[in-house]
Amino acid sequence: MIVDRQGRRFRNLRVSLTAACNYACTYCVPDGKRLVAAQDELSADALARGVAYLVEAAGIERLRITGGEPLVSPRLEAFLAAVGKLGLEDISLTSNGQLLSRKLPLLRDAGIRRLNISLDTLDPLAFRRIARGGDLASVLAGMAQAHAAGMAIKVNMVPMRGQNLDQVMPMLEYCLAQGYELRFIELMRMGHLARDRNAFVQQFVGLEQLLALIGQAHAYEQAPRALDATALRYRIPGKGHFGVIANETVPFCRTCSRLRLSSTGWLHGCLSSSNRHFVGDLLDKPRHQALPALQRLLVKALADKQDQAFSGDVMVMKVIGG
Ligand code: SAM
Repeated sequence: MIVDRQGRRFRNLRVSLTAACNYACTYCVPDGKRLVAAQDELSADALARGVAYLVEAAGIERLRITGGEPLVSPRLEAFLAAVGKLGLEDISLTSNGQLLSRKLPLLRDAGIRRLNISLDTLDPLAFRRIARGGDLASVLAGMAQAHAAGMAIKVNMVPMRGQNLDQVMPMLEYCLAQGYELRFIELMRMGHLARDRNAFVQQFVGLEQLLALIGQAHAYEQAPRALDATALRYRIPGKGHFGVIANETVPFCRTCSRLRLSSTGWLHGCLSSSNRHFVGDLLDKPRHQALPALQRLLVKALADKQDQAFSGDVMVMKVIGG
């Protein structure tokens, strides 16, 4: 097992199935152009072999499939079939939910029981302004169908001043009523926001402000969470839970156990680092050749993790896999 001086190791793997996305969210893509798949994206088999090798070399226990938008990838079905055989503790998926209704049978049959759906507003106009693609009604319908099919739904919302701050309470009430767990993600200094400090500061909404807003309507208390969880969790007695991923206010770097594999075969040990390590060529090699080389790269990827706090990076989330 590869462990660093702070006792951190890789436990959770996020695989970006494709860089392509059917949205172009303002905080993720600066120019509003939807990203297309990279030409050199790996096959479903190669990516799944990457997961299998990382389970062995790094002790990965849990897999989250992300993107880009994983539901637009033609590799989804084959990838799910391959990773389903690896005996992982948990396989979950992060999606914008636009194609959820259509892909639900596939996800259900593959044994996916937990979904994180990114949704920043319940206002259809604001939705179009922020996501620059898709439509709100399809997302809400997809979530309701998935929930009715027995899946646990977490909703990820990035609150931003001037964009959707007025949606914090409507989103919370909606999620509590539907039985979804809402998680507010503090805006991260990724991509263009790492370069444009003003744009970041103007929009940023932090933990304290969120809790003050929520506290006006609900009594809440802190709820237990896993040691390496990214979200602070709160319980509103009798109503449900919500969470805050407070990258800026309460950084979780010291307990971070995440590793990312991009659709083009790069390992990223830290969102806050431009360092990445190419493993695409190793995935065609037999296990006995691939594992020692992979282990050397994993040591480097673990050393890329920040000591204390998230500092941001110019890498675009869609490319690394959010
Ligand atoms: N397309 C999928 C989705 O929408 O969930 C997966 C990829 S998306 C990049 C993953 C998550 O990253 C989304 O919840 C999105 O809101 C979040 N994200 C992207 N850029 C961000 C930023 N600058 N700050 C905070 N969250 C960000």
